[in-house]
Amino acid sequence: NPFAYAPAPESRSVVDIAPSYGLFIDGEFTEAADGKVFKTVSPATEEVLSEVAQAGAADVDRAVKAARKAFEKWSALPGAERAKYLFRIARIIQERSRELAVLETLDNGKPIKETRDADLPLVAAHFFYYAGWADKLDHAGYGADPRPLGVAGQVIPWNFPLLMLAWKIAPALATGNTVVLKPAETTPLSALFFADICRQAGLPKGVVNILPGYGDTGAAIVAHDDVNKVAFTGSTAVGKEIARTVAGTEKKLTLELGGKGANIVFDDAPIDQAVEGIVSGIFFNQGQVCCAGSRLLVQESVQDELLDSLKRRLTTLRLGDPLDKNTDIGAINSAEQLARITALVETGEAEGAERWSAPCELPSSGYWFAPTLFTNVTQAHTVARDEIFGPVLSVLTFRTPEEAVAKANNSQYGLSAGIWTEKGSRILAVAERLRAGVVWANTFNKFDPTSPFGGYKESGFGREGGRHGLEAYLDV
Ligand code: NAD
Repeated sequence: NPFAYAPAPESRSVVDIAPSYGLFIDGEFTEAADGKVFKTVSPATEEVLSEVAQAGAADVDRAVKAARKAFEKWSALPGAERAKYLFRIARIIQERSRELAVLETLDNGKPIKETRDADLPLVAAHFFYYAGWADKLDHAGYGADPRPLGVAGQVIPWNFPLLMLAWKIAPALATGNTVVLKPAETTPLSALFFADICRQAGLPKGVVNILPGYGDTGAAIVAHDDVNKVAFTGSTAVGKEIARTVAGTEKKLTLELGGKGANIVFDDAPIDQAVEGIVSGIFFNQGQVCCAGSRLLVQESVQDELLDSLKRRLTTLRLGDPLDKNTDIGAINSAEQLARITALVETGEAEGAERWSAPCELPSSGYWFAPTLFTNVTQAHTVARDEIFGPVLSVLTFRTPEEAVAKANNSQYGLSAGIWTEKGSRILAVAERLRAGVVWANTFNKFDPTSPFGGYKESGFGREGGRHGLEAYLDV
């Protein structure tokens, strides 16, 4: 029985969560102007973690004014001075990483193994990386005369709360912009802890403002007249709405939206290695990843062998307490997301795709979904086209590299892809023809702050990360 093991939970007491949190405006925690609050729960247990102030339009205005005022001094600092603050923030994140990892796992539901070994190291790495750029942007260093844009309005999702914050805030501050950021309504806590880290680092007041709230808070930030740049990560539907709001203004916009990544396995691929990559590709963070490898394209001749091996591997995954260091599959982030996943899986079955789910016992409270595969899938099936954003893999086959490329590109999205083959020449030939912002070869989900990330087609536009990530926050 793969579920019989001695649990080794990370301690809940590592992190001190207050019963209530305010908005973070101009360096202070404060109540919302209209006194509104909302609750944030742990998706693994449905335990209420805290009550959080909910920002309304008046709070957005106050935060944007604070950010505008702070911009004058912050943008005038020499890059080397801004770098000192960013390095300090990066070091505090490292020092407090255990606390932050437990907090993120509690609020999001993802396994502690992931927050500890993937999210937090990457968060710190982003601040270190962009700290390094801050003093290289001054005139001669950058080879131009780059200027910050002003106040950046940033709206982020719940799947990597702190990492998405780092992707947004680190380049914005390095380039001399100030920030008003809204975390997702289901995962506000790590952003509020980050606000505390800004204070600890002595960051000047108003440079970073954090406004928890729902979609209307995000919409008010996007629409505010004194915001100069909008950066959004989330659903394609909301991304399009934001693009419409921003159209006709002088605001700059970057959008990082959904995906339906193809993981392409050729017949010469090392099967065991490919299986690990497929599992990471779609079951990491319960598949709630925009660049997930949610479509498996396998060469027909190795389909049976690969699927046997994949199913065997999936029966060994441990689903359960996200604080347990042995857990591979945590909770789905919210009841709404679980309902969306369930509805799409039901559609898949109704349309005739064949469903297989790993034999797991699901906990009786919280939001859970067992690792699931669909075979007998055609390109017309909903499960081959729509982003499920859950632990659900759709398996399609191909015979030739040409067919693999055509099927991989047959998507409204173009964010990620994977290629598994021993032939280096094939990797290059296939990668060149894939319309995807990231292509991994013989690996998946490798991230690095030096690499630009972003999509083609309905996956959005603009790049985050690397030198290209700076350009989104600069005029030259
Ligand atoms: P969403 O796009 O609704 O929410 C993302 C963020 O945008 C949240 O902070 C939300 O409060 C905010 N928001 C919502 N409406 C807004 C508006 N009109 N103006 C400004 N901000 C607004 O995403 P969701 O509802 O959490 O998830 C829905 C689907 O989106 C998922 O099933 C998945 O397919 C996709 N998604 C993609 C990503 C990604 O990383 N690309 C992340 C989360 C969700």
